Amino acid sequence: MTDTPAPDLKPSFRSDVTVELVKHSASDSDVLWAARVSTAGEQSLEELQKDPERSKGLINYLMRDRHGSPFEHNSMTFFISAPIFVFREFMRHRVGWSYNEESGRYRELQPVFYVPGAERKLVQQGRPGKYEFVDGSAEQQELTSRVMEDSYRRSYEAYQEMLAAGVAREVARATLPVGLFSSMYATCNARSLMHFLGLRTQHELAKVPSFPQREIEMVGEKMEEEWARLMPLTYAAFNTNGRVAP
Ligand SMILES: Cc1cc2nc3c(=O)[nH]c(=O)nc-3n(C[C@H](O)[C@H](O)[C@H](O)COP(=O)(O)OP(=O)(O)OC[C@H]3O[C@@H](n4cnc5c(N)ncnc54)[C@H](O)[C@@H]3O)c2cc1C
Repeated sequence: MTDTPAPDLKPSFRSDVTVELVKHSASDSDVLWAARVSTAGEQSLEELQKDPERSKGLINYLMRDRHGSPFEHNSMTFFISAPIFVFREFMRHRVGWSYNEESGRYRELQPVFYVPGAERKLVQQGRPGKYEFVDGSAEQQELTSRVMEDSYRRSYEAYQEMLAAGVAREVARATLPVGLFSSMYATCNARSLMHFLGLRTQHELAKVPSFPQREIEMVGEKMEEEWARLMPLTYAAFNTNGRVAP
């Protein structure tokens, strides 16, 4: 038996997020199959796919008239690594989502922290509900990185000090900030993903604009990319109909 290697306890800083599609059973045919049972009963895959124009029309009609349940007969599981503050927003999405996240009680948390990249707009102008973000100055960018990194280092040292003294992980973790990276599996279907994307991404085709925090939008954009590949007709209908979940 080999020993588990000692974790690298030197803090590292990231400005990106990871989204990996680890498992899926999701296609446009799943939508057609569920919808056509209304009028045609059970159908073979061949029958379902024999008229592509009709399929496209049916999916568009379901989306436009908000017949949502045919979009639920599919499943996508993502492995996501992102800061804790993103997961806190993410887990507000209750319907059609299942989550399992790494535990700060059962494992020692690794020192990986979020620091915004140069492209992340830093300054908010206007009032809540009607504001925009603009680039910060070079000084603001330098300050943000430096202060965040210092603060992360100090909080992780405090965490380590308590662990070394025998304090339980679940107690010591209280010193760690929401910029710490966590990881989770999140499973959804196309309908719940569309609802998420409608709220957590900004898009020129959106009938109802939303103003998500950029970091959860980064996760949403990566999920959207995977889903678009799996269900191109459904994805096109979502965009054509203003990115409102049916
Ligand atoms: C830009 C933005 C800013 C936000 N700011 C804040 C904030 O300041 N503070 C804060 O607390 N939250 C905030 N949120 C979170 C927000 O209030 C929702 O909790 C989150 O977007 C999940 O949306 P949802 O409830 O529609 O999704 P889900 O929980 O997935 O629900 C999906 C749909 O199911 C139905 N549904 C679910 N549960 C119920 C229920 N109990 N009763 C009736 N119908 C239900 C609704 O139709 C709902 O839209 C913000 C979200 C966004 C996108």
